[in-house]
Amino acid sequence: MPSYTMTIDGEQVRAVDTFDVVNPATGDTVGAAPRCGRDDLDRAMRSAAAAQVGWSRDGEFRRKALRDVARELRESIEEIAPVLTAEQGKPLREARHEVSSTARWCEYYADLEVPREVIQDDDRAFVEVFRRPLGVVSAITPWNFPLSLAAWKIAPALASGNTMVLKPSPFTPLSTLLMGQVMARVLPPGVLNVVSGGDELGPWMTEHPVPRKISFTGSVATGKRVAAAAAQDLKRVTLELGGNDPAILLDDVDVDAIADRLFWGAFRNSGQVCTAIKRVYVPERRYDEVVDALADRARSARLGNGLDEATELGPVNNRPQLQRVQDLVRDAIARGGKAVAGGNTIDGPGFFFEPTIIRGIEDGTRLVDEEQFGPALPVIPYRDLDDAIARANGTPFGLSASVWGSDPIAAAEVATQIECGTSWINTHLALAPHQPFGGAKWSSIGVENGRWGLDQFTELQVLHRARG
Ligand code: NAD
Repeated sequence: MPSYTMTIDGEQVRAVDTFDVVNPATGDTVGAAPRCGRDDLDRAMRSAAAAQVGWSRDGEFRRKALRDVARELRESIEEIAPVLTAEQGKPLREARHEVSSTARWCEYYADLEVPREVIQDDDRAFVEVFRRPLGVVSAITPWNFPLSLAAWKIAPALASGNTMVLKPSPFTPLSTLLMGQVMARVLPPGVLNVVSGGDELGPWMTEHPVPRKISFTGSVATGKRVAAAAAQDLKRVTLELGGNDPAILLDDVDVDAIADRLFWGAFRNSGQVCTAIKRVYVPERRYDEVVDALADRARSARLGNGLDEATELGPVNNRPQLQRVQDLVRDAIARGGKAVAGGNTIDGPGFFFEPTIIRGIEDGTRLVDEEQFGPALPVIPYRDLDDAIARANGTPFGLSASVWGSDPIAAAEVATQIECGTSWINTHLALAPHQPFGGAKWSSIGVENGRWGLDQFTELQVLHRARG
C-alpha cells in the first residue's frame, strides 16, 4: 500500500503515525496518510514564517514560480488524477479536469496585475495605497474538491506574497499531499507546506500563534468553530461554507433544452458540491413535465467506480455522508414524498446511493431545508413567482442560485432578487478564476477568486509623502 509524505520546509516528511484512506467505490484502502504531530506542525509554521520574508519581496519571482507550478501540475495530471478519483470517488475525467483547473488558477494569479492606487497628488502630499501580504496563512479544505478548493487559496495567497500551511480533509488527503510534492519541485522551501491528520489538526492550525489568516472551506458548523478560534487572536478569516442553492424555473422554460444542464447542476460530483442545485422550484402547471425530465436523466445516469471511463456518477465520498443522504431521503418519503427515481443505497462494498428525484414535499421538510450534499434532489411546485422567490430566500444559506427561462431579461429580473453570492441564468456551477465567489448569510464570510479573492490575503497600507 503506498504511503504518502507531507511537505514541510521543502522536504518530504513521514510522521510517526499514519491513518488509512478509504476508496469510496470499493471500500479498499487507497493509501496511508501521515498523522501530523504538533512538532511537525510547529516546524511547518516556522518554515512558512521564515520563507515569507524573502517570498514577499519579489513579485516577478512569484509570478514566475506560479507559472512553473502550473506547468508542473499540468505535467502531473496522470499522476495525481487517479489518486483523486480513488480517494474521492469522482469520475477520472473530472479528476483530470480538477488537476488542470489548479494549474489554471495559478496561471490566472500569475498574470493578474494589481495597480497601485494614487489617492492624492497635490502640493500638500502624494498619497498611495498599497496592499501588503498578511504573512502565514492556515488553509483548511473539505473532501469534495480537495485540489481546486486548495488552489483557490494557494494561488492568490502566494501571488500576493503570503506563505501557507495547508491541511486537506482526512477523507481525501492523498491527492493534496501529492500536489504539495509536485509544487515543492519548483517553490522555495517553506512557501507551501502541506500537512495531513485527523480533525484534531484543524484546531491546532487555527489556534497556532504564527498564522495571521485562516482561509477555510467546509461546513457551517466547523466554520463557526474556526471563526471562534480566529477571534481569540484576531486573525483574519475567510469562510466558504455550505449552501442550499435553489433553481427557479419560470413559466416559459423550455424543459427539453435545459433538462441536461439542470440535472448536472444538481448531480455533478454526485451532488457533493457546495454550490450544486439542492432544490428546484417549478410552476405548478409545468411540474409533472419537469419531474419526469429529471427522473429520466437520473435513471439513465451511469453510476460506478470513477476509474471506469464510462462512469458519470461516482459514489458518495464517505459512510457518514451516505448515511446522512439516506436519512434525509427516508424522512422525505415518511412525510409523503415520492422517489420517482432512485431512493435507496446500493448494496456492495462502496458508498453508492441511487440518483434520486423526490416529488411531493414542500419547504419544512429536511431534504428541502437542509444541505443534503448528495445525489438526492427535491422538486417543489410553486403558485406564483413571489412565492418562489420568498421560498428561495427562506433559508439561512445564500451561496448561489439559478433562474431558468426562455426570456433572459425576465430571468435576470428574478435572479437579482435572490439573496446569494452568484445568480446564474440558464446555467449553474459556471465558475471561473476571474469571477468572485462567496455567499450571503451563513454561506460565506469574504470571497475567493478574482482580484477580490486576492484582496482577502492582503491588508491596506497607506504611504503618505508630505510635500511643501
Ligand atoms: P467539514 O467542516 O467537516 O470539514 C472541513 C475541513 O475542516 C476538514 O479539513 C476538517 O478536517 C477540518 N476541521 C474539522 N474540524 C475542525 C476544527 N474544529 N477547526 C478547524 N478545522 C476543522 O466539511 P466537509 O464535510 O469536509 O465538507 C463539506 C462541507 O463543505 C459542505 O457543507 C459544503 O457545502 C462545504 N463546502 C463549501 C464550499 C464553498 O466554497 N462555500 C466548497 C466546498 C464545500
